[in-house]
Amino acid sequence: MDVAASLSRRLAKVVSPASGTAEKQIFFLAFFLTFTVVVAISGVSLVLAPAYLAALGLLLVATLLAYVVPWDRVSPLGLAIVPLLDIAAIGLVRDLMREIATATSLLALIPALWLAARLRTRGAVLATVSVAAAFTVPTLLRADSIDSVTLAHAALLPFTVLQVGLLVTGGLAVHDRQTERVTTALAEKEALLDAADMWKRRLENIIDSVDTGIVVVDRDGHDLLMNRTQRSIHRSASPPGPGDPDESQLLLHYPGTTRPIPPDRRPVRRAVQQESFSNYVISVGPAGPGSAAYSTSARQIIDVRGERDGAVVVFTDVTQYIESARKQEQFVATVSHELRTPLTSVLGYLELARDDTDLSRETGSFLDVAHRNAEQLLSIVEELLRDQASRSGTDALALRPTRISDLLRESVESVALRAGELGLTIEQDLVETPLQPIDASRMRQAIGNLMSNALKYTPRGGTVRVHTCFAESSVELAVTDTGIGISDQEQTNLFTDYYRTQAALESDVPGHGIGLALTRRIVLAHGGQISVSSVPGEGSTFTIRLPIGE
Ligand code: ADP
Repeated sequence: MDVAASLSRRLAKVVSPASGTAEKQIFFLAFFLTFTVVVAISGVSLVLAPAYLAALGLLLVATLLAYVVPWDRVSPLGLAIVPLLDIAAIGLVRDLMREIATATSLLALIPALWLAARLRTRGAVLATVSVAAAFTVPTLLRADSIDSVTLAHAALLPFTVLQVGLLVTGGLAVHDRQTERVTTALAEKEALLDAADMWKRRLENIIDSVDTGIVVVDRDGHDLLMNRTQRSIHRSASPPGPGDPDESQLLLHYPGTTRPIPPDRRPVRRAVQQESFSNYVISVGPAGPGSAAYSTSARQIIDVRGERDGAVVVFTDVTQYIESARKQEQFVATVSHELRTPLTSVLGYLELARDDTDLSRETGSFLDVAHRNAEQLLSIVEELLRDQASRSGTDALALRPTRISDLLRESVESVALRAGELGLTIEQDLVETPLQPIDASRMRQAIGNLMSNALKYTPRGGTVRVHTCFAESSVELAVTDTGIGISDQEQTNLFTDYYRTQAALESDVPGHGIGLALTRRIVLAHGGQISVSSVPGEGSTFTIRLPIGE
C-alpha cells in the first residue's frame, strides 16, 4: 500500500506545476525506459528499429536540455520545448507498436498534461496541436483511404488531450484561487498576531512601570496577570518558608491591629466573589509598627457579550500618607496639650486679677475681654484634644456589647422627620444583628454621618434605604441612596480629610468634607472597613463591615 502511495505521489510530480523541468523529465524518461525494457523482452528487433532509436535519441536530448538549460530564466513558451520533444518521441515509436499503438499513444498524455499544467490554456492547445501533428497527420497520410471511421480514430487522441488539458487547466485555476485566498488569510492572521503581540508587550511594559500593584484574575480566581509592583507586594506579604502562598496564606491584617483579615474578606477573594470596591485599606506583612498599608480597589471585567470575565484589583501604597497623617495628629495633640496648661494658668490669674476691687472700670473691661478670649482659646484647644481622642486607636474606645441594628434603627428615627421635610422616602431592611463590642456613641456618630450625607446628596423624591445583615465573621450595614452619585475616580479620595466631590462643590449643599474621614477612622478603630460603590447620577451605597467579637 505504502509503495503504491509513494509511487503515485512521485508520478503526480510529473504533472505538478510546482516541480521543475528536470524532475519531470527524469520521471518521464524512467517511465519510457521501463516501457522500452518491456518491449525489448517481447521483441528486441522493435527497440533496435531506426525510429525507436531516433525516439530514444530525442528523449535523451530532451533530458539533457532539461538539465542544462536554466529554465527559470527561459520565456514561458520556451518551457514547452522538453515536453514537445517527448511527444515527438512517442509519435516516432507509436507506429512500430502495431496492436498496442493506441495504448502507446496514451503515453503522450503525460507530457501533454505537463504542458497544460505549465502553460495553462496555451499549454493545453499546444499539446493538442503537437499530438495532432505527431499522431493524427502521419496516420492520415499513411491511410489508403480516408473515411469517417479513419478520421474519428485519428482525431480521438488530440481530442482527449484537449479535454484532459482543459480539465487540468480549470482545476489548477480553482486551486490557484484557493491558494491565493489561503495565503492572504494567513498573511492577515500573521499581521493580526504581530499587532496583538506588540500591544501585549506594550501593555506589559506600561503596567510594569507603574508603582501601583495590579493583579488580574479570571472568573475562577486564577491569576492572569500580575505586574512587577504586585509581585513585590506579594513577596513582602508571604510568610517565611518555601513555596508560593495563595492569598489566604498571606500576612494581611486590619490596619492598626494584629487581627488577620479572614480569607473571604481579602481583596482578591472579594473581587472573585464579584464585589467591586474602592479604598479598602489593608496592612501587609508581619503585624506591627513596620507593616505597610495599602489602599485596594477592585472592578469587575465584562466581556463583549456583557458577561463577567474576571476582575482587576489594584494596590496603592498609602503607608507614608498614613504615617504623615499620624505624625501630624501627634503634633497637633502635643501642641494642644502643651497649650492647655499655660492657658488654664492664664485664665486662673485673669480671674484673680478681675477680683481686685481697686481696678478701674476700664481696666476691668480689658480683663473681661482678655478672659473671654482666653476661654475661647481654651475651648478650641479642648476641641482639638477631643478630636484627637476620636482619631486615636481602640484604646480610646469605650467598648460595650451593642447591636449595630439598634444603632441604625435609632439613627433612622432621628432623621425621619427631616427626610419627610426633604421629600425623601426611607426604607428599612433590618435584621437584628448579634451583640458586638462597640463604642456606641462613636458608632452613632459614624452612622449619623452616612445618613446625613444620604439625605443631603439625594434630590427630592428620592429614596434612602438602610440594610443590615451578618455572616459568621462579620456584620454589615449599608446606607443606599438614589442621589447624585460619585465617579470612580472621586471614590478613591472620598475618605480623605476636607475632600468634596465636584458635584458637591458645584451644588449649594453645605459641607466641609470631614464627616466621611472621621467615619472611616471610627470604623477602622473598631477593626472594621468602610467601602463605597456608586454610579454618578444613579446613587451610592456606603457599607460598613465590622468583625464579630475579637
Ligand atoms: P461633607 O458632606 O460635609 O462635604 P463628608 O466627608 O461627609 O463631607 O463627605 C465628603 C464628600 O463626599 C461630600 O462633600 C460629597 O462630595 C461626597 N459624598 C458623601 N456622601 C455622599 C452621598 N451619599 N452621595 C453623593 N456624594 C456624597
